[in-house]
Amino acid sequence: MEKEKNCCGGLSGKVAIITGARRGMGKADALTLARAGVKVVVADISEEECQLVVDEIKKNGGEGLAVKCDVTNKSEVDGLVKKAIDKFGKIDILVNNAGICQFKPFLELTEEEWDRTLDINLKGYFLCAQAVAKEMAKQKSGVIINIASVAMGQMGLGMSGLAHYTASKGGIAALTKTLALELAPYNIRVNAIAPGAIDTPMSSSADMDPKVLEGTLSMIPLHRMGNAQEIANTVLFLVSEKSSYITGSIVVVDGGWLAG
Ligand code: NAP
Repeated sequence: MEKEKNCCGGLSGKVAIITGARRGMGKADALTLARAGVKVVVADISEEECQLVVDEIKKNGGEGLAVKCDVTNKSEVDGLVKKAIDKFGKIDILVNNAGICQFKPFLELTEEEWDRTLDINLKGYFLCAQAVAKEMAKQKSGVIINIASVAMGQMGLGMSGLAHYTASKGGIAALTKTLALELAPYNIRVNAIAPGAIDTPMSSSADMDPKVLEGTLSMIPLHRMGNAQEIANTVLFLVSEKSSYITGSIVVVDGGWLAG
C-alpha cells in the first residue's frame, strides 16, 4: 500500500469527489484513487450503495465518505461540496462521471427523455464543476475530469438511437475545452476522457444480444470491450502530477475504435 501511494504522482492526502460512484467506472475510480492515498467522497443517488464502496475503501486502509447526491439538483450538489469540505477540509479532484444512456429512436424520443438525459449528463456536470471549482479557485489548484464518450460526435462517431446521449456527450467535450480556458488562471486543469465500449452495468456484455456484441467488437481493433479499471488507470494519470501540463484535452480510451 505504501509503495503504491508513493508511486502515484503526488496524490497522497488529496481529496476527490466522484459522482455516479456506487458502481461501474465511478466505483473503479474511487477504489483506484483511494489506493493511491486519495480521500474519496463517493457520491451517487443511493447513499447505502455508496457506503458499500466506502467500506471497501476503508477495508483496504483508505479514507472515504458516502454522500447521496442527485447531480441534477443544485442544493444536493452544494450539500455534497459542503460535506466534503466539512469532512476533509478541501477538494482537489472532481471526477464528473454520473450518467445515463438509454437507446430510443430519434422519431420516438420524448421531450422528457431528452431533458432527463441532458439534465444528468450535461447540466449535472456543469453544477458539480462550478460548485467544486469555486472551492478550487480559492486554493489556486485542482483537477477536473469529465467522462465523455467516443459517441460525442466530434470525432466522427454518431450512434443511432442515441441523439440525446450523443448531444450530451458532445456538450461535455465543449464544456471541457471552455472550462480549461476559464479555470487555467486558477491553476485548475480540466480534461475529459472519452471511453469506448466499457463492460459496466450500463453496457454489460453479459446482457447484450450476442449479435450486437459481435457487431460492436468487429469495429474495435483490439476486439474486446474495455473494463472499468482501464478507465480508472487513465483517471489516475490525469489527476496526478504526472499529467501536470495536460489541460483541455480529450483522452480517448477505446481499444482503437475511433482509429478504424
Ligand atoms: P453505470 O454503471 O450505469 O454508472 C453510472 C452511475 O451514475 C450509476 O450508479 C447511476 O445510477 C448514476 N447516476 C445516474 N443518474 C444520476 C444522478 N442524477 N445523480 C447521481 N448519480 C447518477 O455506468 P458506467 O458505464 O460506469 O458509466 C460512467 C460514465 O461513463 C457515464 O457518464 C457514461 O455515460 C460514460 N460512458 C460509459 C460507457 C460504457 O460503455 N459503459 C462508454 C462511454 C462513456 P442509476 O443506475 O441509478 O441511474
